[in-house]
Amino acid sequence: MAEPELVDVDVVVLGLGVGGEEVAGRLAEAGLSVVGIERRLVGGECPYWGCIPSKMMIRAANAVAEARRVAEFAGEADVRPDWAPVAKRIREEATDNWDDRVAVERFTGKGGRFVRGSGALDGPGRVRVGDRVFRARHGIVLGTGTRPFVPPLPGLADTPYWTNQQAIEVEELPASLLVLGGGAIGLELAQVFARFGVEVTVLEASGRVLAVEEPESSEVAAAALRADGVRIATEVRAERVDHDGRAFTLRAVGGAEFTAERLLVVTGRRAHLNELGLDTVGVDPGQRFLAVDDRMRVADGIWGVGDLTGEGAFTHIAMYQAAIVVADVLDHVRRARAGADASGAASAVGGAARTEGTGIAGGVPHADYRALPRVTFTDPEIGAVGLTERQARERGINVQVGVSRLDSSTRGWIHRGDGFVKLVADADRGVLVGATSVGPAGGEVLSGLVVAVHAEVPLSRLRHMIYAYPTFHRAIETAVRDLS
Ligand SMILES: Cc1cc2nc3c(=O)[nH]c(=O)nc-3n(C[C@H](O)[C@H](O)[C@H](O)COP(=O)(O)OP(=O)(O)OC[C@H]3O[C@@H](n4cnc5c(N)ncnc54)[C@H](O)[C@@H]3O)c2cc1C
Repeated sequence: MAEPELVDVDVVVLGLGVGGEEVAGRLAEAGLSVVGIERRLVGGECPYWGCIPSKMMIRAANAVAEARRVAEFAGEADVRPDWAPVAKRIREEATDNWDDRVAVERFTGKGGRFVRGSGALDGPGRVRVGDRVFRARHGIVLGTGTRPFVPPLPGLADTPYWTNQQAIEVEELPASLLVLGGGAIGLELAQVFARFGVEVTVLEASGRVLAVEEPESSEVAAAALRADGVRIATEVRAERVDHDGRAFTLRAVGGAEFTAERLLVVTGRRAHLNELGLDTVGVDPGQRFLAVDDRMRVADGIWGVGDLTGEGAFTHIAMYQAAIVVADVLDHVRRARAGADASGAASAVGGAARTEGTGIAGGVPHADYRALPRVTFTDPEIGAVGLTERQARERGINVQVGVSRLDSSTRGWIHRGDGFVKLVADADRGVLVGATSVGPAGGEVLSGLVVAVHAEVPLSRLRHMIYAYPTFHRAIETAVRDLS
């Protein structure tokens, strides 16, 4: 094999999804020489097949649903949904027809060097992409994300099933759709497609949809989807999938069969750590997720960021972690340079001028996931932060629970929207450790609850504050009073 071309840089970022792009761009802006490597599209899953296009779909589907509510409040409206404008908006506004030229230029405009290709670690401080090896003076950041997990069901691999990618790229809707997986992504897409007239069936292996959230959230979400015509089947253990050229048939343990024109598999996501050459740096490639410490360090000179760390598959987690990585890498560089200067050596890292403008004020923040917010953007939205009641009890916390139904608040009654606020408090410390906010603006109402959990605002202060009337968030005040 020919000797690889060797390229020396300060930092190599492998995978330019949400987390990697943020790290690479900010380190380049700080004056470091940064190589960013991406094999698909710069920006990753979120802008092309995740958050942004799915929320465009939801915006459209909610407009359809709201127009259908005219009959309840304001006379008549003739609603004839059409998928074409939705697909066009996703193609033209969200994804530039799945082209990342703008994102690449954004990165190179900050001074970064972009490499399109698939990379892997090649020993300490080295990342190989084809016949080039990048040698990192200061560090390597891994941000390679996750890919859809497709269960090893007999028959499935040979069928033209969809993952989120095909569901987001769809130009013409099928007549019917099976959604395998009743998590956040499955429910969001199921409701969208149902509102555009697709006959949707959600198949969930556990006893309830949104199984990681409060049981009350699962109930509201299931009721809302059923009201949109979605069929929901729980405790369905898929056994086999067949496709006869026109339709899918999914057979479940016990013999039940489900048939539809399309099958969407949304059964979770996996980090493929075995592809990253981790063994060449002494890190276990057999882990499910990449273990990192609270400064996102994997090993000496290696950081991890985003979904692959398993701390929560959310864009806001990737961005939060990216800020920590940037601070820690810059701190590392500053110390290395200070050491080099102190020893009287000429700067080994590209000259003292490069430290200017790095914005290092000392003190790297440590990751803290106690107040991790998450929102399922169904209608109504399911927002949650911190621990569920069950998680809090399992941790031995002296739990107090307060609940208020949205329709008992003035705004909820006016709106005729379903939802609730549920608070989980640590009675011994007098603070919230978790909360759920479900309603037409559940994700927005959540923000106050995130502050309360994050800042450990004493319950006594939450009891004696002023909540604007008549807002959805006044349900928080009632739930605080309900804590017992
Ligand atoms: C349908 C859907 C809806 C979602 N909605 C939301 C939402 O509303 N809110 C939210 O917060 N999150 C949402 N998410 C999750 C969000 O998209 C992810 O949390 C986010 O994209 C994670 O960013 P990341 O940088 O960790 O990884 P990714 O975005 O997955 O990026 C990783 C990148 O690394 C590249 N890569 C992998 N291996 C290599 C290699 N060896 N060499 C070079 N490049 C490589 C990949 O091509 C990819 O571009 C959604 C996800 C989906 C699928």
